[in-house]
Amino acid sequence: MTTTLFTHEACTQHDPGAGHPESTARLKAVLSALDDAAFAALARQEAPQATIEQISRIHPRDHAMRVLASIPAHGYVRLDGDTVVSPDSGDATLRAAGAVCAAIDLVLSGTSKNAFCAVRPPGHHAVAEIPMGFCIFNSVAVGAAHARETHGLERVAVVDFDVHHGNGTQASFYNDPNLFYASTHQAPLYPGTGSVHEQGCQNNIVNAPLPPGAGSDMFRDAMTDRILPELRRFSPDLLLVSAGFDAHEDDPLAGLRFTDDDFRWVTHELAELADNCCGGRLVSALEGGYDLDALARSAAIHVATLMEA
Ligand SMILES: [Zn+2]
Repeated sequence: MTTTLFTHEACTQHDPGAGHPESTARLKAVLSALDDAAFAALARQEAPQATIEQISRIHPRDHAMRVLASIPAHGYVRLDGDTVVSPDSGDATLRAAGAVCAAIDLVLSGTSKNAFCAVRPPGHHAVAEIPMGFCIFNSVAVGAAHARETHGLERVAVVDFDVHHGNGTQASFYNDPNLFYASTHQAPLYPGTGSVHEQGCQNNIVNAPLPPGAGSDMFRDAMTDRILPELRRFSPDLLLVSAGFDAHEDDPLAGLRFTDDDFRWVTHELAELADNCCGGRLVSALEGGYDLDALARSAAIHVATLMEA
């Protein structure tokens, strides 16, 4: 069984402006690492655009249309303090969400065991009617809704190991006991959500905040002691991963100290859990990661581990 990579040129071209950490160079670095001969067996597909119907399961249609209409023909438009769009951004954000939906279709068809969506902009901060934190539409939340509506899956889980809390994903899952969201993230840090007391309507939200400076041991303990047991108990029909690599010790935006090997370890644990719960059906999507070398290495390790699963 294969692992499939979904990406699209538009995701590389989405440009939030000079000096912005969520740069076009990020995805180029990831794709360059995945061009290595070690990834010859990786299947590759072009990401389609998500439809407005798919997007509007999470983001009200009026809001989605307003966001897309705000994309400029030239120059930049600021959607919030740090979320900036330019001519390719509409295509990119639709491809990012479309990648997750298409990857879910492929994995549920049995053609591919798992998939990685190498996409930008990231999505996990995007709330129903608020683009924020470099995110426009919430790709994994759109994917979860797609899996349930189109494929009739009952229970979908997202595990998010980005250094920032995925407030947008949590908000869209909070009141639905058949959606599960678990996150390790640094606290305090942007966006300020993700305390252990935010537990969802039926303990379907599991937050494991980590203090600045936390490294491998605290990360693996949080996963092993809190998140993985709760995820096993939830027993998803499909596992989605918000794969941010900005908890890496080399990352300039935050202060956690994960190593390359932590990303191998967590990917292995999640793939094994998916094997036991849902036939290995796992779709991962790129979120953050701002040191280009650490991002490229970590994403490559993540994909290599999915290929071994
Ligand atoms: Zn992040």
